[in-house]
Amino acid sequence: MNKDCILENLRNIPNYPKPGIQFQDVSTIFKNAECLKEMADEIVNLYKDKGVTKVVGIESRGFVLGAIVASRLGAGFVMCRKPGKLPGTTRKASYQKEYGYDCIEIHDDAINENDTILIHDDLLATGGSMLAAYNLVKSFKPKDIYINFIIELCMEGLGGRKTLEGTNLTTLLQVS
Ligand code: IMP
Repeated sequence: MNKDCILENLRNIPNYPKPGIQFQDVSTIFKNAECLKEMADEIVNLYKDKGVTKVVGIESRGFVLGAIVASRLGAGFVMCRKPGKLPGTTRKASYQKEYGYDCIEIHDDAINENDTILIHDDLLATGGSMLAAYNLVKSFKPKDIYINFIIELCMEGLGGRKTLEGTNLTTLLQVS
């Protein structure tokens, strides 16, 4: 994969959403046609022989490539959403954030025991939100669970890869 394409198009926004945070803005890598295609091709290549039946995308930036990749793999797409957004009966998981707790939900009938799941999100920081999604997906007892991120933040103190130790994880680009 042409990683330069992601690096050149990824935009850093200082002090967003609060002072001291360096926000990696993925809207600029989605906006670039070549970059969008490169990233989708790479994820499809990584998972084309794994028998993935559903891709779970994490709201909201995980929806973009998640749905493209699902279609290319011949898999279905499942939304993992913030509380109160899904209309049917859901399963929930809560997880700790820097301040307080957050919650995610998946429709109760979205995954079954015959599924092989790829969970996708845009960026790995502490890994807290993905671990919650992973455990929620695991509660459906699918055959296998894979995890993919576009970007892995490797700054000291984040420890995302450690949080997700023992899972089957790939990332397209490490940023430090
Ligand atoms: P974690 O749970 O600490 O790994 O944070 C990852 C989640 O927060 C993902 O859903 C990301 O979309 C979001 N996130 C955290 N930092 C950034 C950033 O710098 N850019 C884009 N998304 C971010």
